[in-house]
This record gives sequence, structure tokens and C-alpha cells, in this order.
Amino acid sequence: MALLAVGLVLALLATDLAAPSGDTLLSAFSPFKQISGAQDKELGFRVHSGPAEPQQQMSGELGMVMAKCIGKRASPLPVRAALDGITLVSLVRQEHIVLLAFEKDKFLTPDFTSLDVLTFAGSGIPAGINIPNYDDLRQTEGFKNVSLGNVLAVAYATQREKLTFLEEEDKDLYIRWKEPSFDVQVGLHELLGHGSGKLFVQDEKGAFNFDQKTVINPETGEQIQSWYRSGETWDSKFSTIASSYEECRAESVGLYLCLHPQVLEIFGFEGADAEDVIYVNWLNMVRAGLLALEFYTPEASNWRQAHMQARFVILRVLLEAGEGLVTITPTTGSDGRPDARVRLDRSKIRPVGKPALERFLRRLQVLKSTGDVSGGRALYEGYAAVTDAPPECFLTLRDTVLLRKESRKLIVQPNTRLEGSEVQLLEYEASAAGLIRSFSERFPEDGPELEQVLTQLATADAQFWKGPCEAPSGQA
Ligand SMILES: [Zn+2]
Repeated sequence: MALLAVGLVLALLATDLAAPSGDTLLSAFSPFKQISGAQDKELGFRVHSGPAEPQQQMSGELGMVMAKCIGKRASPLPVRAALDGITLVSLVRQEHIVLLAFEKDKFLTPDFTSLDVLTFAGSGIPAGINIPNYDDLRQTEGFKNVSLGNVLAVAYATQREKLTFLEEEDKDLYIRWKEPSFDVQVGLHELLGHGSGKLFVQDEKGAFNFDQKTVINPETGEQIQSWYRSGETWDSKFSTIASSYEECRAESVGLYLCLHPQVLEIFGFEGADAEDVIYVNWLNMVRAGLLALEFYTPEASNWRQAHMQARFVILRVLLEAGEGLVTITPTTGSDGRPDARVRLDRSKIRPVGKPALERFLRRLQVLKSTGDVSGGRALYEGYAAVTDAPPECFLTLRDTVLLRKESRKLIVQPNTRLEGSEVQLLEYEASAAGLIRSFSERFPEDGPELEQVLTQLATADAQFWKGPCEAPSGQA
């Protein structure tokens, strides 16, 4: 009951608790009146990238479908119905991402909902959720996607002057199209990214779930040499890279499939608008790859956040594609301090970016399907390596990224209180003080006891956290 009594969404504040300056404190909404009746709740353990190795984390969420979702743009329900109509397999066939043998035998209709979250209990609030996290269960039981609308709304709320590393001429376009393009990316990431691809498995009786004689590995031209044995899972085999690698695959699927006109049509975009959605989606990914450097610790040669590592890897893949598709130029800001500009050549997305991403996606999928850990590690860790080698000099760029970083956003969750048969909503101001007040009033009866438990847990985990610990909002 304590969990359900935890509060509601949402206001925003800058992370820097020491410097709560007014203009970074944006208020979102908590429109109870718009509740359409559909509710959603999740509670359970999920696999996350931990500071030392993958870890299980308990998290819970209570949300509801808001009437505002049924707006001008395609709402989740038509998107789901239409994607079901064209199906994953036919998209794969049209786009030749990878051979069909590497796709799921049966397309399980994904469940897709956009919710506004009432409360989210965990170490960070994601912008979307795809559950279960276990690939073997997804394969047999299907999966569920949830996009957290009010968290996304907060993520969009970047002010123009804080848009680092973009060209001036890109900023207005970016602000105009970031939200719709992110909707498309999150939808594709969750539905067709995490939802796609098959694992080759030999069960305990020795039977294979693929035809050993006919299935050919498109990377080697040979028959399949490796697979998952009974009891082996994606996470157990790929351990430390499993989470980030899978996020990278899902992000790449989103970037790749947004180029498909039929897909963008389903999301409600055609013609010049569709082209702008594609451009801003790709531009956002490239910029995110640069911003990701904040989450790399050079001293430990270690990435601290799975999604950000994934975006850096995609940036590397697109830089490697060459031909001026992506360029990163160190500059000096108007304050005289180091800065940088990231450019994406719109005209090169289809001729250069698409084939590069296609090759990369095929390699990711084939290595995943065949459980080829050494091949997967070599590929992924190669792209994720951060060095100061020219021309990019990423370690130097990292200093610039840290210098220019925007304060991290936190979400102040309101509380609910039962008064007689009435539920009262208690909201707090979007400030550091509001955040603390919200926490302190959340568990009025067992607060001291909970504080003791939390302190014990934090102390026990402290040895793993050498640097600042972050869990930025992003897709799950
Ligand atoms: Zn994901």
C-alpha cells in the first residue's frame, strides 16, 4: 500500500541541488481530470546495467492513459493496429535488415500504450518501458511496451539557449520536431527494436529452434556454428555488455525503420514533415552520442549508462560511414571556452547512413542470434572504446561535454493521501526543497525505519560507485 500511496507526477528541477536557479525549474502538469479510465501498473525486478555488473533492480509504476493521447497525431492504438497489419516480418522483408531466419517464427502482436505515470518507484524514471526484459520470455510469451507521456514531455522541455553543440540553423527545426521524432523513435525502439530478432536455441532434449541445414549466417556465408544451449540466456552469455548492446540494437532499429515511408505514415507524417522528422531523429541521435561522453569514466575505461553508451556506439558507426554524413568540429564558444559543433548532412542520410546502419544492425543481430559472445564483444567494445585518437579526439571532446553540460533534470513526484473516501493529490513546487518535501511526506508512518534501510543499502553499494552516479531518463 505504501507504494500505491506514493505520489504523482510531476514537476521538474535542475539536478544541481546547490544552485536551484529559477529558469531551469519547469512545471509540467498533473491533470487528474483527463483520466480516461485505463490504468496500468507494474511491479517487479528488472535487469539493469549496474556499476560493476548487470544487476536486478526492483521498480514499480502506476500510470494511466490520458485523454490527451488521442490527439491530432497518430495515437498509440492506430499505431499498434497498423504495425500489426504490416507486421515485423514484412518490414524486415521489405528492408532486408537481416535474413528472415533470424526473425521470430511468429510475430507476436506487441502491446503498446502511452501512459502518464502517477508514480514511479525506482532509481530513475525511464521514458518508455519494454517488459519483460528477458529475451527468452519475450520470444515465447510476447511483450508489452509503455511510453511514459508525461516523462517525455519533461524530456522535451529544453530551452533554445541550452541546446548545446547544434548549429544555429538547426535549433529551430530541432525544437519544432524533437517531440514528434522522439515519439517515433521510442515507438520503433520499443515495438520493433526490442521486439525483433530470434535467438537460436538448442533445448534440453537436443532439438533446435532453427534449421541447422538451411540457415546460413549472412556474415560468413556458412551454416550456423553457435547457439544458446538449454539454460543459457542473452544476459547470462553477454553479461556486462548485454544491456547496452541490446539498447544499441533497439536504437538502431528505430533510426533505420524511421526511413521507411509506410512507418512514418502510420505515425502521421508524410512529405516534407516526414523528412524533418527523420532529420531531427538522426540529428538527435548523433548529438546524444556526443553528450553520452559525460557517462564515460576514463579512469576506469568504463561506461556508466547503457543507453548513452549505445548512442555513442551509433555515433561512431555513422562517423565511420564517412562521406561527410556526420562531422564534429571543435570550436571556441562566445565565452572563450572550448565548444563543439555537430553536423549531420541531410542529403547523406539515405545514401550513406542507411547502408552503414544496415550493415551494423545485421552484424549486431547475427552475433546476438547465434550467441557469439567473442564476436559480439569485439564488435561492441571496439565501437564503445573512447580514445583521444584523431580526428575526433573523444577524450578531449569529453572535457568540452562536461564543461557545457546542462543540469540534470529530476522529477518531483507528488503524493496522494486518503481522506475519508476521497483521494487528495499533494503536489510540490519544482525545486530542490519541493523534492525533499515530497520524499519526507511520502511515508509518514514508517519514514525513520525506511531511512535506516536505505542508508544501509547505500552504504553496502558505495564501494561500487567510484564516480558520480547517474541514471538519466531514457528508454528502458
Ligand atoms: Zn530499450
